[in-house]
Amino acid sequence: MASARRLADHKRVVVKIGSALLVDNGRLKRDWLEALMSDLVALADTGAEMVIVSSGSIALGRGILGLPKGPLKLEDSQAAASVGQIALAQAYTETLAAHGKKAGQILLTLGDTEERRRYLNARATIGTLLKMGAVPIVNENDTVATSEIRYGDNDRLAARVATMVSADCLVLLSDIDGLYTAPPAEDPDAVFLPEVPRITPEIEAMAGSAGSELSRGGMKTKIEAAKIATAAGTSMVITSGKQYNPLKNLDDGARATWFCALATPASARKAWIGGHLEPRGEIMLDAGAVKALCLGKSLLPAGVTGVTGRFSRGDAVTVRGPDGVVIGRGLVAYDHTEAVLIAGRKSREIEAIVGYPGRAEMIHRDDLALEDALLRTSG
Ligand code: GLU
Repeated sequence: MASARRLADHKRVVVKIGSALLVDNGRLKRDWLEALMSDLVALADTGAEMVIVSSGSIALGRGILGLPKGPLKLEDSQAAASVGQIALAQAYTETLAAHGKKAGQILLTLGDTEERRRYLNARATIGTLLKMGAVPIVNENDTVATSEIRYGDNDRLAARVATMVSADCLVLLSDIDGLYTAPPAEDPDAVFLPEVPRITPEIEAMAGSAGSELSRGGMKTKIEAAKIATAAGTSMVITSGKQYNPLKNLDDGARATWFCALATPASARKAWIGGHLEPRGEIMLDAGAVKALCLGKSLLPAGVTGVTGRFSRGDAVTVRGPDGVVIGRGLVAYDHTEAVLIAGRKSREIEAIVGYPGRAEMIHRDDLALEDALLRTSG
């Protein structure tokens, strides 16, 4: 099998764990989670950065509170999530601690991955946790999100998280081992698809809309997740999580459907920054800063000679060289009022000027899309 088809060959992997796998009758399946965490830590030990998107707070909280079976009112499921999320976080903390690993909790709402300021913050925090060797555990912030601002299902949340952190692989652990041309339980002629190079209307039609009782996401939301992920350079794989050690099983050749990424995460992100965002302002640089950017460095405030426009942290801005030539576009780490104040100053002066210890870079190199011509001349 091709080497790209193993989790162990990826650099940053997001694993989505559904409620139905993790919780049975309101109780955590502790043995299953322990086995999964040993798979995950084994992958981390080979150098892969691992992020978990875990459901289960509502299902667990429902059990802890002794709520009846059947659909819950929004406020009841939010109360259940509030109680269950503590138990969920504790379970991850303990099962990772058995391997000497730390867990960090990130609770997101739709706005956090759509609004650029909060998007940058969440991305930076997850990046920092990974640098520290901790495992970020992400879930939707179910207790504060009302129906309009909810993801509602963690398949799409997982895809947004994967693209936000530029993961090169997203694993959806499911109660089914992949995509079939028709629901296999209903259609004996259903054919299994090991690889989906592109999501066509035919592929979408195969997804139907079925979901099991605990998870809101059926195959439909998984295909939607695949669309988000693959367009942003993240491969996605659906495999069964019903057995113990599903990540190990996957690398040992267990059945799975792979959705191929259409680009690399870095090139997709640069294309997004360079092409899809409306610039809200401009930042002028001196020659030294232009040179540094061509060498792949971040933009520091020291090299900024001028700032125009009204922008907020996370907005796109146009970056120009001393002669006014456009160098590229980037997501700026400061609001325009702060950018004006720190322009031309050393990064260590930032705290004294803005009143809090801000980021050292005006634009981080990962958030910068340089003009093609410049990339060619700089080699
Ligand atoms: N965020 C919800 C929970 O943790 C579950 C959403 C889903 O299963 O897709 O209970």
